[in-house]
Amino acid sequence: MNKKDLFNLAKEAMKNSYAPYSNYNVGAVLLCENGNIYKGCNVENASYSTTNCAERTALFSAVTNGEKDFEAICVVGGKNGEITDYAMPCGVCRQVLAEFCDADFKVYVGVSEDDIKEYKLCDLLPYSFDKSKLGD
Ligand SMILES: [Zn+2]
Repeated sequence: MNKKDLFNLAKEAMKNSYAPYSNYNVGAVLLCENGNIYKGCNVENASYSTTNCAERTALFSAVTNGEKDFEAICVVGGKNGEITDYAMPCGVCRQVLAEFCDADFKVYVGVSEDDIKEYKLCDLLPYSFDKSKLGD
């Protein structure tokens, strides 16, 4: 599955976004190393802090289905259902991804099939806190 395919699947997921407060709709698709994919969208709540981002929705769905090995995620988003800019993962999602993903895990953010940026997780979350810090 190439990054254009992932972009289009993320766009599909974005259509299910529930964002009545921010009107900022986000879709994400997570690619597992075995080729399985899991979609996610942002799900807002009147109690704002309980809102869940698209990236974590996809990741939690994957983990719920027994997945632990991931290759890439693609994220799209923008106001009022339009992709208006690169939808970079927030800090919380970067940390949650780092729990499961290697430093070279790929993060794609796109505005169109032909305009997709690629990052490594380690570049988006340098010097991260992880389970290795907790010892035995
Ligand atoms: Zn987030």
